[in-house]
Amino acid sequence: MFDAILIDRAGDGRSHAALTRLERDALPDGDVLVRVGWSTVNYKDALAITGASPVVRSFPMVPGVDFSGIVEASDSPEFAPGDRVVLNGWGVGERHWGGLAGYARVKADWLVPLPGGLSLRRAMAIGTAGYTAMLCVMALERHGLRPGSGPVLVTGAAGGVGSIAVALLAALGHEVHALTGRPEEEAFLRGLGAAEIVAREALSGEGRPLAKERWAGAVDVVGGRVLGNLLSQVRYRGTVAACGLAGGMDLPATVAPFILRGVTLAGVDSVMCPRPDRLEAWTRLADTLDTARLDGLTTECPLGEVIALAPDLLAGKVRGRVVVPLHGD
Ligand code: NAP
Repeated sequence: MFDAILIDRAGDGRSHAALTRLERDALPDGDVLVRVGWSTVNYKDALAITGASPVVRSFPMVPGVDFSGIVEASDSPEFAPGDRVVLNGWGVGERHWGGLAGYARVKADWLVPLPGGLSLRRAMAIGTAGYTAMLCVMALERHGLRPGSGPVLVTGAAGGVGSIAVALLAALGHEVHALTGRPEEEAFLRGLGAAEIVAREALSGEGRPLAKERWAGAVDVVGGRVLGNLLSQVRYRGTVAACGLAGGMDLPATVAPFILRGVTLAGVDSVMCPRPDRLEAWTRLADTLDTARLDGLTTECPLGEVIALAPDLLAGKVRGRVVVPLHGD
């Protein structure tokens, strides 16, 4: 038996999450059984646990879109017992039981071997948020962003994706501007490498199709009006990597930045991202991220407190990354 969070649907059709104990036999089909070391609480996990958005596609469901762990049994030639692995996305925690449990049984194709030197805990301090932040950086680089191109804005900077994006971009030599709705997090963000703090209100009002050019690139986790306004202030031929909707699903913008300044809006999806990009992202994360900075943005939450934490995360009250010990390292 092992501990797990399980989401089920009540008679009234609403979903309900509870801490429970499960048998290994209850795990879904898959060719690799992983003893989960650590999982995390991502924005999507909080949506699933609270039922705020229809993230869960089948019930009952173990949430957790990511985990790190050690292979316990494998029917795949790709993995052997004792291998250290990490998993992000592929519908895990949405359609297939996920990481907020002591064990997970998954497809071998979904697993990435953990880059050497990265502990199971740090792999989850990075988690899907950090891996997505790296995919955003790679998208900006594909469109020509280099250190010295000019300032790069990160929105939702004190959150999970945002804080790792700030740390990554700073480590790569960029001048990072951090947009936050929490002025009290200025010292935290400067500690991650932010050169300038931008108040969320600066991009929250009604904007103009084009405004003064400020940023050579941006990583946006917020969407909505913030993204619309941000686009109007991107420099000629700059790029915005858009990966989130923490501020809204809409996009009030005009085509002016695209047709008059050659701005690129690059979409980033981590869930179905092809394996070569995943391997590159994880290798670069292990090589680039400063472990002291990573540890500084990480807090721990026991499995039994994850359900209570989820609404706070959706309300934007949680700083950086939250890791959840299952079997630990
Ligand atoms: P998180 O830790 O909750 O961070 C989100 C941050 O956004 C908050 O900390 C806050 O930062 C800011 N924020 C929250 N509500 C806001 C609002 N109403 N208006 C403006 N800013 C707001 O979440 P996360 O795990 O980093 O995920 C961030 C977003 O990326 C989510 O929408 C998530 O679904 C998405 N995501 C997408 C992918 C993908 O594959 N495309 C992968 C991972 C995450 P400040 O307090 O600093 O302002």
